Amino acid sequence: MDISEFAQVVINWLDQNQSQFIEMADQIWRTPELAWKEFKSSRLQADFLQKEGFSVTWNVGDLNTAFIAEWGEGKPILGFIGEYDALPGLSQKNQPTKEAIDDGGPGHGCGHNLLGTGAVASAVAVQKWLKSNGKSGTVRYYGCPAEEKGSGKVFMARAGAFNDLDAALNFHPSSINMPAKGGAVGVNAIYFRFFGQSAHAGGAPHKGRSALDAVELMNVGVNYLREHVKDDVRMHYIITEGGKAPNIVPEQAEVYYFIRAAKPDYLAEVVERVHKVAEGAALMTETTVEIRFEEGCSALLSNHYLADLQYQAMQLIGPIKFTQEEIDFAQTINNAFPGTNSDYIDDMIEYYKPSPEIVAALDEYRDQPLVGRNFIALDERIIATGSTDVGDLSQIVPVSMLETTCFSTGCPGHSWGNVATGGMSIGHRGMMHAAKIMAVTAVELYSDPSHLVKIRQEFEQKTGGKPYVPMIPEDAKPPRYEPDGDQTPEE
Ligand SMILES: [Zn+2]
Repeated sequence: MDISEFAQVVINWLDQNQSQFIEMADQIWRTPELAWKEFKSSRLQADFLQKEGFSVTWNVGDLNTAFIAEWGEGKPILGFIGEYDALPGLSQKNQPTKEAIDDGGPGHGCGHNLLGTGAVASAVAVQKWLKSNGKSGTVRYYGCPAEEKGSGKVFMARAGAFNDLDAALNFHPSSINMPAKGGAVGVNAIYFRFFGQSAHAGGAPHKGRSALDAVELMNVGVNYLREHVKDDVRMHYIITEGGKAPNIVPEQAEVYYFIRAAKPDYLAEVVERVHKVAEGAALMTETTVEIRFEEGCSALLSNHYLADLQYQAMQLIGPIKFTQEEIDFAQTINNAFPGTNSDYIDDMIEYYKPSPEIVAALDEYRDQPLVGRNFIALDERIIATGSTDVGDLSQIVPVSMLETTCFSTGCPGHSWGNVATGGMSIGHRGMMHAAKIMAVTAVELYSDPSHLVKIRQEFEQKTGGKPYVPMIPEDAKPPRYEPDGDQTPEE
């Protein structure tokens, strides 16, 4: 059999067995759980994979909602990367008009119910295929908590969970089908707490040393620093504590920063300079500063060879065919957000500056609320200025973050509209499309190991052979919540 026949086997298997995965995605959608508390979602997937013959290890990186499910033997070892955390306040019914199931409750506004389950489906399809062909190789599913809090995978990476992978496959729900070649900046989240001396602000201000002054001067300093850093750097802050009353010189004040940059070394350099600004502010105000690193994740590197393999798989699979009912559903959602369809296409053209052929192909969707077609990676020259913990994974193992259409055209991220489509057939189609693309790509990698050699060469060239250094301090501990009732995640 040649590769396209092998591919057809996994595609057919996924078509014939999709109902169980759709039910899994819907069950996670119906019981949305916030970052670090994904007890039911992780358990549901781990139990399923165990029944399918995978061996399950809990508590990866000391996270009680992280697990690895493994099947098979020897090399190559491919990782399917899943997530399952929801977002606060986004509860929404799977209908095209805004209405919460549970007012103020969480909802899957980023489609992680599909993200994790699509990876589970893909891993199982590949396992069945390896089994029936008697091929050697290991399939691993990684249940990764707290992507929305930005750091579940960082703790897993620090524990070495991804070290022996040959490649990793993951996808993210989106408004387009496209493999990724772009990068994303890394981030450090840091609290700066200043300690001064309180005094009556009217009666004895000369006796006071204001911690709030230090915060404000630090921010002024950082705003001047902004001119003298590279273009990809982003520094943003909020004041988390500014004192108790105007007539009391604030004894304590705190500012919370996100600092982002594309290269890990440069990010570390900028963070060091921000530390100096903080120390300078403390010196000026005769206060002291305590710097508390909260979390961080590394810049994202995309493996272009892997992205090209995924595009080949997409061409074999064909586009997603949405029904008129689904198109109408998506259009109703888009109507609730101003100008979505056409603006989205304009933004894509402006942002990615694609070739004239791609512009023409995108133009076809100018009035369409769903994009079913497969696109090549349009983001080759782009370094996104948001961050993801897939970045840490990408510094250890070659990965390309596939996107598939699970949401209506350009519906804003983290919105009720995305919760709605992620809980019905539009999201299901996008999820199964991703499962097929990742499975066909995996079949290609298991069948022809020469791909992995090229993928590795590109990876070595991009990382410059530098070992991965996690952004989090050695002694940083992840947040840990205990499940109530019978949701115990540990065996
Ligand atoms: Zn997400």
